[in-house]
Amino acid sequence: MSLDLPSSGCRSTPVLKERGQREVFCGLTGIIWLHRKMQDAFFLVVGSRTCAHLLQAAAGVMIFAEPRFGTAILEEKDLAGLADANAELDREVGRLLARRPDIRQLFLVGSCPSEVIKLDLARAAERLNGQHAPHVRVYNYSGSGIETTFTQGEDACLEAMVPTLTTSTARELLIVGAMPDVVEDQCLALLAAMGIGPVRMLPAHRAGELPGVGPQTVFALVQPFLGETHAALQRRGARHLPAPFPFGEEGTTAWLRAIADEFGVPAHLFDAVTAAPRARAQKAVAAQAAELRGKSVFFFPDSQLEIPLARFLVRECGMTAIEVGTPYLHDAIVGPDLDLLPAGPVISEGQDVDKQLDRQRAAAPDLTVCGLGLANPLEAQGFTTKWAIELVFTPVHFYEQAGDLAGLFSRPLRRKAALRQEAI
Ligand code: SF4
Repeated sequence: MSLDLPSSGCRSTPVLKERGQREVFCGLTGIIWLHRKMQDAFFLVVGSRTCAHLLQAAAGVMIFAEPRFGTAILEEKDLAGLADANAELDREVGRLLARRPDIRQLFLVGSCPSEVIKLDLARAAERLNGQHAPHVRVYNYSGSGIETTFTQGEDACLEAMVPTLTTSTARELLIVGAMPDVVEDQCLALLAAMGIGPVRMLPAHRAGELPGVGPQTVFALVQPFLGETHAALQRRGARHLPAPFPFGEEGTTAWLRAIADEFGVPAHLFDAVTAAPRARAQKAVAAQAAELRGKSVFFFPDSQLEIPLARFLVRECGMTAIEVGTPYLHDAIVGPDLDLLPAGPVISEGQDVDKQLDRQRAAAPDLTVCGLGLANPLEAQGFTTKWAIELVFTPVHFYEQAGDLAGLFSRPLRRKAALRQEAI
C-alpha cells in the first residue's frame, strides 16, 4: 500500500488534554439513526420528560404508525423512591411487547435520571430476558449525558451487543458502524466487485442477521467513535484492520485498500474497481473545494469525527486546520488519519470550553465546526459555523458522497459570502 504521507504527520504531536466544562449533546441522540438501521429493534429510554423532549426534537417532526423508540417516563414518585420502578418497567415492557410482536431486540437505554436513582438496567435486562427470550433479546446501555457525548450512544449500543454474538470460526470481514442503507449498499458493492465476501455488518438490519465473531474475524470500523465496541470485539478475539476512515476519495481508497490487502486482492483488480468512482469523487470534491481552499478551520470536540474530517479538509480541500478538538482520542482507531494530517494544528482531547473559546476567538478561523450549543452564539459574534451533528445525520461516507461531504463545509461559507454581498 502506498500513501502520500506528509513528512511529518500529527501522530506524534503532543495532545492538549483538557478536563473542564463541556458543551455536548447526550448519547440518546444516537437512537435517531440506530432505530432506522435496526428494523426489528425498539429503544426504550428509561428517563424523564426532558429525555422524551430531546428525542422528539432530535427526531424532528416524525409521525410513525409504529415508532421504534419511546421513553418510559420516571415520575416524581419513582425519582423519590416511593414506587418500585422495576415493577413498573416490567409492566411497561410487557405491554409493549404484547402489542408489538414485530420487536425482536429491545434496548433499555439509561439516562441521567435512571442513573441518579441507581436503577440497575443491567439486572432489569437480565430479568426481562428471562421473561421474553427467545422471541426478544433485551439489552441495556447508557445514553446518559453525564457520561457520554452524542456519538457514544451508538458505541455503547453496539458494545452491549458484542458479548451476545455467537462464536464463529469463519474467516469473515465484519464492518462495524451504522451507515444509511444507500451508503452501505455502495460499500458492499465495491467489496463484492473485488471478490471479498461474505461481509457481515454490525449493526445488522434484523436480529436474525447478526454476525458471529471469533479469532478468524477481521473488522473494519466506518465510524471513529466506536472505541468501546472496538475493545469488546478484540476481547472476542477479532482483529481490527487499522485504516484512515472512508471520508473523501483518499480516505475511502485507503480504507478499501487496507481490506483488499488483508484479503489478497490483486492491484489490477483493486484499480479496476475503484478507478471510476475515484475519478467521480475527485471531480465532485474539486467543485466544492474551490470555496474551501486557503481557508482555515477550527474544530470543537463534539462528534468524534473531527480528526478524519480535518484530514479530509486539509488534504483534499486545501484548508488549514488551526485546532482539531476531539472528545476522546483513540490512537489505535484514528492513528492512520493522524499520520496523514500534516503537522501544524493543535490536537486537543476533551474540553475546557471557555479556554477553547478564547483560542478560537484569537485564531478567528474562517470556519468553526462545533455543537449546536456553541454555534448560535458564535454566529452572533460573526463567525461562520458548521453544526457537527449534521455530519452524523447526513450520508458522508465513501466515494459517491465525497462531494456532499465537502459541500457541508463549503455551504456555510458560501451563505456567509452571499449575506455579506447583500449587506453591501
Ligand atoms: Fe438530558 Fe440526561 Fe435525558 Fe440526555 S439523558 S436528555 S442529558 S436528562
